[in-house]
Order: sequence, then C-alpha cells, then structure tokens
Amino acid sequence: MSDTDRPALTTAPHMYLHYCEETDCNEWGSWGNSPSSAAPTRWWCFEHFPHKSYEQEQRRDRSR
Ligand SMILES: [Zn+2]
Repeated sequence: MSDTDRPALTTAPHMYLHYCEETDCNEWGSWGNSPSSAAPTRWWCFEHFPHKSYEQEQRRDRSR
C-alpha cells in the first residue's frame, strides 16, 4: 500500500493511520481496543470489532 493511497490526516502526532486488522477488510479501523495497558491497541471497523470486549470497557469506564 502506498502512502498516496491513504487519506491525509493532520490530527495529533500520536495518532497514526490504522485500518481494520481483519484480513481482507479494507475498512477504516475507527474502533480500537487494547486487552491490557501493556498491549498495543488493535483496531477494527465497526463490523469486525469484538463488541463483547468493548462493552466490558464501557462498564469499566462507568465505574471510574
Ligand atoms: Zn473490518
């Protein structure tokens, strides 16, 4: 994949271009999830995102 095929984003420096990591899926990975603070965040599109883990994250957020 060449850089010219990617959209030019000018967001914060820590943000980087990430697509859904599902094989053969070319959707934008706008849904990130990290199993732990030591693991790198993984990204999926809405369709492929592991929603069960996401709901657990939401519950943790509410208990803060
Ligand atoms: Zn996907």
